[in-house]
Amino acid sequence: MVVVATIAFGMGIDKSNVRRIIHYGLPQSLEAYYQEAGRAGRDGKLSDCTLYCNFMRTPTLLPNKRSDEQTRAAYRMLRDCFHYALNTSTCRARILVKYFGEEFGPDGCQMCDVCINGPPEMHDFKEEAVVFMNVLQAQAGQAIEGMDYNSTDCYISGRRNFGAVPDFRTIVSYIREKIPRFAVTDKIWWQGLARILEDMGYIQEAAEIVSNLLQ
Ligand SMILES: [Zn+2]
Repeated sequence: MVVVATIAFGMGIDKSNVRRIIHYGLPQSLEAYYQEAGRAGRDGKLSDCTLYCNFMRTPTLLPNKRSDEQTRAAYRMLRDCFHYALNTSTCRARILVKYFGEEFGPDGCQMCDVCINGPPEMHDFKEEAVVFMNVLQAQAGQAIEGMDYNSTDCYISGRRNFGAVPDFRTIVSYIREKIPRFAVTDKIWWQGLARILEDMGYIQEAAEIVSNLLQ
C-alpha cells in the first residue's frame, strides 16, 4: 500500500518509513525544509527528497498586521532557500547542515544531485546581467555607471507597495520593449537571473530594506 499525503496537520511526522518527500516550490525557510525533508527515511533506509524551485516565490503565511522587521525576516528566510536551491557546486547536505552550524564530511553525501552530477554546464549571461542592472539603475533614477557590479541596488517581485523601488515587472517590460533580441524572453527567466545576481550580492531584494527606503 502506498499513501500520498500533504504536510497539513503534520502528516508523516509519526511515520518512520516515508520514502519520498516532494516540495512543489520553495518552503518558507530552511528550518521548515529541514523539518519537512527530515520526515523521510527515519527507519534508516534510502529515501528521496525532491525540491522544485519557483523563482517567483514571495513569502506567504505572513500575519496581516506585521512589522517591517517581520517582513524583512520572511524575505531573509526565503533568500536562504533560494541560496540553497541555486547552489550548484557544494553538496546539498553539507550546505543544509552548515546552515545549522554543523560540519559535514569533506567528501559530501555522495547522494545529492550536486555530488552525483557535479557542477552543471556554465553559461555566459554577462550581457543579460548588464542589461538587467542598467535598466534597474535607470528605473531607480540613478546614474548608469557602466558595468559597476558593486553598487547595491534594489529590485522587487510581485509586490508594488514599497514606494519608489523599481518594480520587477516594469523592468522586464522595459527590456522586452526596448531591446528587440529580448522581445520574447520570459519573465520567469529574468526572475531566475535576478535571483542569481541577488545570490552573488549584486542586487538586493527591496523588501529586506524597505523601512530604510521609506524613511
Ligand atoms: Zn551531496
